[in-house]
Amino acid sequence: MSAPVELAVVGGGIVGATLAALAAQQARIEPARIVLIEPAAPVAPAAQESIDLRVSAFAPAGIALLTQVGAWPLLDASRLGVCERMRIWPEHLPPDSPDALVFDAAELGESQLAVIAENRAVQAALLARCAALGVRVLPHRVTHLSFADDVARLEVNGETFDAQLVAGADGAESAVRAAAGISVHRRGYQQLAIVAVVRPSRPQPGVAFQRFVSTGPVALLPLPGGDCSIVWSAQEPRANELLALDDAAFAAELTRVTTEVLGNLQMVSRRAAFPLRRLAAQRYIAPNCVLLGDAAHVIHPLAGQGVNQGLLDAQALVAALVSRPRGEGIAALSALRRYERERRAGNALMGGMVDTLDRIFSRPTGLPARIAAAGMGLVNRNLIARRFFFRQAAAGRS
Ligand SMILES: Cc1cc2nc3c(=O)[nH]c(=O)nc-3n(C[C@H](O)[C@H](O)[C@H](O)COP(=O)(O)OP(=O)(O)OC[C@H]3O[C@@H](n4cnc5c(N)ncnc54)[C@H](O)[C@@H]3O)c2cc1C
Repeated sequence: MSAPVELAVVGGGIVGATLAALAAQQARIEPARIVLIEPAAPVAPAAQESIDLRVSAFAPAGIALLTQVGAWPLLDASRLGVCERMRIWPEHLPPDSPDALVFDAAELGESQLAVIAENRAVQAALLARCAALGVRVLPHRVTHLSFADDVARLEVNGETFDAQLVAGADGAESAVRAAAGISVHRRGYQQLAIVAVVRPSRPQPGVAFQRFVSTGPVALLPLPGGDCSIVWSAQEPRANELLALDDAAFAAELTRVTTEVLGNLQMVSRRAAFPLRRLAAQRYIAPNCVLLGDAAHVIHPLAGQGVNQGLLDAQALVAALVSRPRGEGIAALSALRRYERERRAGNALMGGMVDTLDRIFSRPTGLPARIAAAGMGLVNRNLIARRFFFRQAAAGRS
C-alpha cells in the first residue's frame, strides 16, 4: 500500500491535467499528495512536424487559466492559430450577406477571439507543468477503483492508493463514473465530425468561418500560414459518403459546401472522423468522488466549447476546494456540492444552447431557422449585442 494521497486525478487529458496543476498551486494540498494518472501521455509536437488533426479553439477564459497554471507559455507560438475574426452564416445566405454574423476582435476591443492549439501540445505542456509543480504523474491506467470507509481505493500498475478524493477526468467513457455508480444520460446526434487540415487558394489568415448546412455545420479554423483545420459535422450516411471520396473529390465537395469562401481547398492531411453525442452525468459528485470534463458532459463541437467547459469545471472545483472551511477535508461534501451546483447548471445551459442551434439549422428552410437567421442579422447590425455575445462565449457562458 502506497502513502495515502489527498487528491487522485484519473485522466491527464487537458481537463484533468489542468485540475492537478491548479490544485497543486491553490487548493491547500501538498503537491506531493496529489497523483495524476494518465496512461497515454503525448509528446509535444516537434517544430518541423505538420499541425496535428486534433486541435481545439481555446476561448479567452480557457487561455487565461492555462496561462495561470504555466502551461500556455510553454506552447510553440508559431504553431498557434490566432482567430481575430469569425464569420458565421446559414445555408440559405451567401457568406458576405449583411445578415451573416461577424465578430471582429479589433471592433470588440479585444486582441483575439480565440486561439487554435493542438490538443497534444496543450496536454504535453500541462503534464510537464504538473511534474514541475511536484504532482506525482503516473504513466499508467487505473485498473481498479472502489469506495469504502470514506476513501477511494485505486489500483495502478500493481500499486494501491487510498485517496480522500478521486477526480474522474477520464473522458466520455469514464470508468470512475461507472465505479461511483453515477448514471448518465446519452443521446447520439447520428452525426460524424470529420477533421482534417486544408490549404485554401485564397487564404484569410486569422479568420474563422462556420456555415450551418442542413446536414450539419462546417467550420474552417485558422492555422498558422493560412492553412485551416476543418470540423465538418454531417449526418452519418452523408459523412460516410464523404469519407469514401478520394482526397481531390473530398476537397472539391468541401470547397462547394463552404461556397468557395476561401477559394479552392486542397487536402494537406489525412481525414479522421468522430461520432458525435451528447452526454450528461446525472450527478457530478458521490462520496469521495467528483467528475469533470467529458466524464461529466459531452456536447456537439459546433460551438467549440467542450474543452473550454471542462476547464471551467477544473477552475470551479479548485475554487470550491479553496473555500472549504478550515479543518474540513478535501472531500467535504459542502464544497463539492457548491461545485456541482455551479457547473451542472453552466454545462446544461451550454449543452442546451448547442443542441438548439443544431436542431434549428438542420432544417434551414424551416421557420425556426429563418427566425434564427433574422436574429443573426439583427445581432450583426448591433455592436453592443455582438459585444455581449462575444463576452459570453469568451467566458464560456452560453
Ligand atoms: C471533432 C471535435 C472537435 C472539437 N473541438 C473543440 C474545440 O474547438 N473547442 C473545445 O473547447 N472543445 C472541442 N472539442 C471537445 C474536446 O475535444 C473535449 O471536450 C475534450 O478533449 C475533453 O477533455 P477531457 O480532458 O475531459 O477528456 P479526454 O480528452 O477524453 O481525456 C481523458 C483522459 O483520460 C485518460 N484515461 C481514460 N481512462 C483512464 C483510466 N482508466 N486510467 C487513467 N487514465 C484514463 C485518457 O488516456 C485521456 O487522456 C471537440 C471535440 C471533437 C470530437
